[in-house]
Amino acid sequence: MTFAGLLLFGCSQDDHVVNVYSGRHYQVDEDLFRAFTEKTGIRVNLVKADTDQLLNRLEMEGRNSPADLLITADAGRLVTAAAGGLLQPIGSDYIQETIPVALRDPDSRWVAMTKRARVIVYHQDRVSPEDLSTYESLSEPEWKGRVLVRSSQNHYNQTLMASMIAALGHDEAETWAGRLVQNMARRPRGNDRDQVKAIVAGEGDVAIVNTYYMGLLTYSVNPEERLVAEQTRIFFPNQADRGTHVNYSGIGLTKASPNPENATRLIEFMLSADSQRKLAEQNHEYPVNKEVAWPELLQSWGEFRADERPLYQLGPYLRDAMFIFNRAGWN
Ligand code: FE
Repeated sequence: MTFAGLLLFGCSQDDHVVNVYSGRHYQVDEDLFRAFTEKTGIRVNLVKADTDQLLNRLEMEGRNSPADLLITADAGRLVTAAAGGLLQPIGSDYIQETIPVALRDPDSRWVAMTKRARVIVYHQDRVSPEDLSTYESLSEPEWKGRVLVRSSQNHYNQTLMASMIAALGHDEAETWAGRLVQNMARRPRGNDRDQVKAIVAGEGDVAIVNTYYMGLLTYSVNPEERLVAEQTRIFFPNQADRGTHVNYSGIGLTKASPNPENATRLIEFMLSADSQRKLAEQNHEYPVNKEVAWPELLQSWGEFRADERPLYQLGPYLRDAMFIFNRAGWN
C-alpha cells in the first residue's frame, strides 16, 4: 500500500484494525500479519516506506496520526523516534518476561523484534580469517583498495558508527573513518548484497554487511547469487574485545495510537516463539525470544560475542556519526 492508502484508514476507526508504518520490506512480515488477522480477526493496514519518511509523516500527523505501530529495520531510528516524542510506553507483561532488558527501551516505548550482526564478509580464497580481527583493523594499510561498504546515508552504517564512537571516543572513531575511506575499493554505492557481489566480481576483498543478507544470497532463487554466497564467508569482528556490533529491527507504539490494545497484541504476536522462528528461518535474522533456537544456517555461521552496550545508549552519538562521515568524506 502506498501513502494514498492512508486516506482510507482515517474513516475506518473500528475496533478490529491495527495500522502499521513499516520501514521493513520483507515478505515474511506480511505473512505474519496475515496469520495474526486469521488468529484474532484484527485487520492489519500496512504502510511501507523509507523509515525517515515515516518518521516525518508521524511528526506531521501529530495527534491525528492513524498509525499505531512503527516498525524499523534499525534500532537507531527507534531511539530517534522515542527521543522525538513520537512513541508511548507499551503495557505488556509478556514483553517484560520474554525479551531481555538490553533489547528494550528503558521506558518501554519500543522493543527489538529481530537481531542482525554487522559482520565482515570476505572472499574465501583471497582472504584468510587469520588476516581479520576488528572493524578498526580494516583501516590499516594492508587493506588499501580492498574494502567495500555502502553509503553513510544507510542507517546500518550510522548505528555502527555510533557504536564505534561509544567504544573508541570521537577522535579515534573519526580517524578510523578517514582511513577506512582511503582503503575503499570504490566509492560507496549499492546495498549490502551488492558489496558481497562486488567481492566475487573482484572489485574488493572484504565487505561490511548484515548477516541476513548472506542468508538471502545462500537461499536465493537466482543461481548467480547462490554462487556469490558460496565464494564468500562471514567473520565476526572484535571477538577479543567488545564484540561484534549487533543492530536490531524493532517495533514502537506510536504516541497517538488509536488502537493501542490491538497494537500491543500484534507486538506480542511478532515476539511469540512461532513468529520468531519464522523470522529466523525465512529472513535469516537472529531471534530476540530466548526460547527460539537458531535455524541451521545461523548455527553454521557460529556462536559469537556481541557488543553488549545497549543500543538505546547510542542516541547522542547518532548525529555525531553523520558529522564524522561528512568530515571523513564517506559519501
Ligand atoms: Fe536490510
